[in-house]
Amino acid sequence: MAKKDSDSPLIKRLLEIRSKLLEGSSDVGAANMKLIEWFAGAENGVTNAYNFFKGREPEVTWKAMVWRPEIMPKHRFALWMLAQGRLRTKDRMEYEPNKECDMCRKQVESNQHVFFECPVACELWCKVKQWLEIQHDFRSFEELQQIFAEHYKGHTWKMKARHLGISSSIYYIWEARNKCRFHNVVPDVCWLFRKVQIHVFRFVDVAQMMAGRRPQPWQHGGRHAGGQG
Ligand SMILES: [Zn+2]
Repeated sequence: MAKKDSDSPLIKRLLEIRSKLLEGSSDVGAANMKLIEWFAGAENGVTNAYNFFKGREPEVTWKAMVWRPEIMPKHRFALWMLAQGRLRTKDRMEYEPNKECDMCRKQVESNQHVFFECPVACELWCKVKQWLEIQHDFRSFEELQQIFAEHYKGHTWKMKARHLGISSSIYYIWEARNKCRFHNVVPDVCWLFRKVQIHVFRFVDVAQMMAGRRPQPWQHGGRHAGGQG
């Protein structure tokens, strides 16, 4: 059965999975045998399936940025979805008549627009970059991950704070977009920036206290203390 435009997203996804299974098998019978083998051990079935599909995906460059241990799970999920361009913006909604971004009402809402072109996001990035001393400009997720892979590696306090600042900004931009779209809440960039700062401060304070050091959080306004580079 071939994929049709009228199929539901779930059916489309199941057909894609079936096609991938058949790609690596000589026929339907062989694909069925593979499924039986995977799940014969009961407990390892999901792991076997995961390893099969993971091995077939092309190598991605954003992994190092998404899987840093300091990033909290819900922020990581937003980052992971954005890395794949899969956050459900209006450009991806077939039946949405109004494609306009709710935050600025100027352009079509897309992953690219919400996070890198919308004035709300641009103003927040400006504040976060200045505060965390990130010198480079980025206008897409591709550019963001390339810059971080090249210039913001390592695990000093300052690097961790930068990665926390970026990942939490992405989460809070998406949260602001949802509040605007579904509850008509106008985004307040100063409040979004404050939330990013609170998140970074909290992590750095707790981590330094656990390491037996006196907390030395960033100062408001771009100065910093503690860590290197
Ligand atoms: Zn916008």
